[in-house]
Amino acid sequence: MIRRWRTTNCWVGRPFGPPIAFVLHTQAGGESGTVAQFLSSSAQFSAHYAVDLEGTIECFVDPGDRAWANGILEPGNCWTAIAADCGVDPTLNPNQVTVSCETEDLGDHHRTVSERQFQAVLWAAREAKRRYQHSLRYLVRHADISPQSRANCPGDRWIASGRFQALADALGLKMVST
Ligand SMILES: [Zn+2]
Repeated sequence: MIRRWRTTNCWVGRPFGPPIAFVLHTQAGGESGTVAQFLSSSAQFSAHYAVDLEGTIECFVDPGDRAWANGILEPGNCWTAIAADCGVDPTLNPNQVTVSCETEDLGDHHRTVSERQFQAVLWAAREAKRRYQHSLRYLVRHADISPQSRANCPGDRWIASGRFQALADALGLKMVST
């Protein structure tokens, strides 16, 4: 099940080119990511997709526009290598060329990723991949962009569990590190 919303927390269009990466988040990783917050014009925060534990997908920002979920490049990031590999300016704000997905964990970054949640994230990523099949090449952790402040996003519920790897394999996307 997918519900589509329209938030003003985004930039319209993709003037810097199509997305090169699908970025995965978990709520406890630093964003609360509620529907109300994503739709609030004062929040200055959004993601393209948010997937709950029951497998419901909320689409807040169309993948043709740019959400504000992962724009802070921190020391030690892997993003510059990804951008360089994709022929994108490494200093460009990652929000310009990514599709982002928030995942519900009820505030506990150890909460197991349910099968329904996994399948729904896969569905959302496939929707983005269908649209950007040539440019979208990487599955990225928020921690790959902001390793200082977002080290646990999306965290072990995705990484240590093997779910992140399984997602990359199912989508045919590259990862930088785990
Ligand atoms: Zn995050």
